[in-house]
Amino acid sequence: MDKKFFRSVLGDKPVEEMGLTYAHEHIIIEDSYASAKYPEFLLNDVAKVSQELKAFYAAGGRTVVDTMPSNAGRNALKLAEASKASGVNIIVPTGIHLEVYYPQSHWRYTYTEDQLTDLFIADVEEGIDEFDYGAPIIKRTPHKAGMIKLATGDDAFTKHQEMIFRAVVNTHKATGVPILTHTNFGRQAYEQAKLFKQLGADLKHVVLSHVDRNQSLDYQKKVLDTGVKVEYDSTFRWMKNPGVFNWTLHFLEELLPLYPNQITMGMDMAKNAYWKSYGGKPGLNFLLEYIPNFLAEKGLSDYWQKIFFDNPHELYAFKK
Ligand SMILES: [Zn+2]
Repeated sequence: MDKKFFRSVLGDKPVEEMGLTYAHEHIIIEDSYASAKYPEFLLNDVAKVSQELKAFYAAGGRTVVDTMPSNAGRNALKLAEASKASGVNIIVPTGIHLEVYYPQSHWRYTYTEDQLTDLFIADVEEGIDEFDYGAPIIKRTPHKAGMIKLATGDDAFTKHQEMIFRAVVNTHKATGVPILTHTNFGRQAYEQAKLFKQLGADLKHVVLSHVDRNQSLDYQKKVLDTGVKVEYDSTFRWMKNPGVFNWTLHFLEELLPLYPNQITMGMDMAKNAYWKSYGGKPGLNFLLEYIPNFLAEKGLSDYWQKIFFDNPHELYAFKK
């Protein structure tokens, strides 16, 4: 494709078709080691998630980014099914999640940097394994990865994590695939950005998730000054307990005018109890209902286009 494109589970599409985009979601979390350890994560009913995605589409939503990477509950076939049923584009990740979502004997600890790189590149260029890299037999589906993920906690990086960074950036450089990270409570977000820069990643195509859980405006600025993108998803989390200060809304108000091209948003509804179709709340459409009024109240309505269109489009376009 000559034009700028993003890689959806159903194939490459021009960036113009990305439309209104949520930058960090959980659409399918399959029965897995992760869901056995954290049963509230099980999210594998295609009919239910499709129902909620249809409501998202009806409200103007066009693209979501699934964020369960290799062997942590990813199911490319179900994601393709949900995308077909709802009309919503779904970007599927390769890469690897936090250590807690894998057994201690997992291949992530025994494979070399080059072996990991090869597995990630094959997900992006050939198709995601039907068995999600869970067994010795690999059967590639036609559904390719459109993003690569890594995750660190709130402590300094381990040698193992540094190796994962290198494998992820190798894949990014070889294929042009954009990068998303998990930062837990955002404490190592600046260190992540610094290491990506050092390794030669294009920070326009790198987004650090959950940075709004770090309750410091100065820290947000320090991270954004590197040029990296951030993803904020805690608006509804602060609201769960009345009287708690809403840091996410505070950051939006202060930072949108200063860093208009770097902020994206999502719901990150990893728990099935957040889904209306599972009988929970607030549901996927929360941001579409809440954020426009908030921005209007603050005189910031022009940034709607940035948060949900321009910024995710630049981020998730493949780098040439
Ligand atoms: Zn997540």
